[in-house]
Amino acid sequence: MLQDYQVLRIPGPTPVPPSVNRAMTQAMTGHHSPNTYQIIQNIKPRLKKFFGTTQDILMVAGSGTSSLEAAVVNVASKGDAVLVVSTGVFGHRFTEICESYELDVHEIAVEWGQAFNTDEVVNYVKQHPEIKAVYATLCETSTGVLNPVGELAQALHALNDQLIVIADGVSAIACAETKMDEWGLDIVVTGSQKGFMLPTGLAFIAVSERAWQAIEANPSRGYYLDLTKHRDALEKGNTPFTPALGLFYGLDAVLDQLENEGVSEVYKRHLLMRDMTRAAFKALDVNLLVDDAHASPSVTAVKPTDFDATKFRQVLKADFNIDVASGLEAFTDTIFRVGHMGYCSPADVLQYISAFEIALTKVGKQIELGAGTRAAQQIYLQKTISTVTQ
Ligand SMILES: *Cc1c(COP(=O)(O)O)cnc(C)c1O
Repeated sequence: MLQDYQVLRIPGPTPVPPSVNRAMTQAMTGHHSPNTYQIIQNIKPRLKKFFGTTQDILMVAGSGTSSLEAAVVNVASKGDAVLVVSTGVFGHRFTEICESYELDVHEIAVEWGQAFNTDEVVNYVKQHPEIKAVYATLCETSTGVLNPVGELAQALHALNDQLIVIADGVSAIACAETKMDEWGLDIVVTGSQKGFMLPTGLAFIAVSERAWQAIEANPSRGYYLDLTKHRDALEKGNTPFTPALGLFYGLDAVLDQLENEGVSEVYKRHLLMRDMTRAAFKALDVNLLVDDAHASPSVTAVKPTDFDATKFRQVLKADFNIDVASGLEAFTDTIFRVGHMGYCSPADVLQYISAFEIALTKVGKQIELGAGTRAAQQIYLQKTISTVTQ
């Protein structure tokens, strides 16, 4: 096997584009230097459109989970009632974080593979007026469900305009269009290694005016993750602690890439990759975990009924060095997940589908070679033929 040839098709981390890797080799400078100030100025205004907000996006050195924790420790303190709407592993992570801070945590646990039902959540909150914050997940990466978080935020605020509604956007931002201000979301977070196609290590946190008021009224905001510290420093073009400067360099190059493509084109590309992937599996008679209406543009989960998911992944790895992800926790061996986010193009989709067909055959699934590829090609042509210039 050609040693360096690795194809990472897991739902984060994604591969890093060459220009981004080159940008990250720039020299370190002190965190109060003009260079660091300048790079922050370059990044700051350009991040907002990916969240759909006019607020500054705070950048904290940490993995995605640090942004989830920031959204807990800043908003609520010991004994406060909060609701977590959990649709899988990452939804439930909010519950675990809330429990670790001894909040009075309520959880609505939705069957894995399903999206939450907005009315059910709204009714729950109606019956529990003590709840001050609601946590939900945009794209539940463990199942590939895209939840109607915007609809939920609007419905909850119609009920109680003081409620703080928090969305984990880790595998959604820069993949699925997110309109924080329009939807009335109060905190939206993500991490660098998903849609932003960077290495892991930067957490992003956007905060609404309503959430800032709640945060300022909160007596215990922790230390490192106290968002008022990060906000006050960022206003001055700075960070309260030594920044992940290498990732800032990379992010500047990522924003160049995404702006060059066009933000709406970024979202269209993800939808196209989702639709190609799903069409291929359907043509091959392979069972998908999530229905069309709730399928995420960034990750597709497959739940085989007549072949072994783990063996399939092993063949794919051994023959092609293509990595797809296992399921998580209860779904570890029963599903696999294909990441099509960040640095991934429709050409990559055609590649992996063709390899999937070989792996399916090797694990004993009866398929017609090429049927999945053809279905993906047809979707590609349907969605792009009008843009062919004569
Ligand atoms: C990846 C992911 C996380 C966790 O991010 P880490 O960087 O591993 O801490 C949280 N939520 C969602 C939805 C994710 O996809």
